[in-house]
Amino acid sequence: MNEEMRARAEIDLGALRANVRALRARAPRSELMAVVKSDAYGHGALPCAHAARQAGASWLATATPQEALALRAAGDTGRLLCWLWTPGGPWRQAIEADVDVSAGALWALREAADAARACGRTARVHLKADTGLGRGGCQPHDWDALTAAARAAEAEGVLKVTGVWSHFACADEPGHPSIAAQLESFRAALAAAERAGLRPEVRHMANSPATLTLPEAHFDLVRPGVSVYGISPSPEVGQPGDFGLRPAMTLSARLANVKRVPGGHGVSYGHHYVTAGETTLALVPVGYADGIPRHASGTGPVLVGGKWRTVAGRVAMDQFVVDLGGDTAEAGDEAVLFGPGDAGEPTAQDWAQAAGTIAYEIVTRIGARVPRVYV
Ligand code: PLP
Repeated sequence: MNEEMRARAEIDLGALRANVRALRARAPRSELMAVVKSDAYGHGALPCAHAARQAGASWLATATPQEALALRAAGDTGRLLCWLWTPGGPWRQAIEADVDVSAGALWALREAADAARACGRTARVHLKADTGLGRGGCQPHDWDALTAAARAAEAEGVLKVTGVWSHFACADEPGHPSIAAQLESFRAALAAAERAGLRPEVRHMANSPATLTLPEAHFDLVRPGVSVYGISPSPEVGQPGDFGLRPAMTLSARLANVKRVPGGHGVSYGHHYVTAGETTLALVPVGYADGIPRHASGTGPVLVGGKWRTVAGRVAMDQFVVDLGGDTAEAGDEAVLFGPGDAGEPTAQDWAQAAGTIAYEIVTRIGARVPRVYV
């Protein structure tokens, strides 16, 4: 049985393109930057980047410079931002590859300017304001120093501030008081940047939940990630269908073994599941090495033979078991772990709930051993 027979993640690029178009329709006056970091949330960076461009994403974004450079090496030539820098990073390669870079601190601005000077190019920089997430970006009390340094580097010709941006902490909890506070802080950062003489092309703040629910946060460009792949950022924001989105990934596997066992039979490591009576057990040949969360032991849902089954006992490294009760199946039959949900299968959100996590983590962690098949 080859790897493709064991398990596959089918990626519906038509759905991805339709999702990008639906997101553009929600922010009609803004450009769209499709976030394709972490291998396009597990969906495969290159095919997804290409499909997103086809559907009108004028920008792409990655976290690491290596991810951005891989897109360039594969032939992507459109506008591209990467934001997760550490000292000594490949600034020069990024600048030479026409990748926009992010700076949320003076050290980053300095490294970008030095690299641009060294290669005789102009670095295109998005200044990042921490408006309340408390993660990356520049605090309000340091913002004037950052914008002044950026303006000085612009005057020298080594740098152009192409963007000013920030990121929400709680946009996936509609009505959370931090949302309005962050918007106000971002407007203050934009005004201060303008006073410093900066004229960015794009001001951007909206992740998926803000793109879907907060028009006042759209500014010049929206920056959705998870919704590009058809997943809602949270159940509180809504279901994918509420926004015309469709999950692009369907994860399935072929049953590797089916057998009758007597009642009282322990199942999988630790015997946390014991059969109630004589029953049929089926082996699903994917495990935590493939990204199936071990926290979904005893809870994860799988569609086999038209019915939802539950992971029986622990998820192991490469396999787990489901109890089919009185139903029959054969080795080779299909088990669908998650998909769009409209053929009766569970969704990535169902797995997130079963594992006590978010759907982002479910799709992003599907391992490299599972082939992506593009349809
Ligand atoms: N912008 C930044 C800085 C991010 O880190 C992310 C994702 O984590 C996104 C945008 C996209 O967020 P989402 O997937 O919620 O749309």
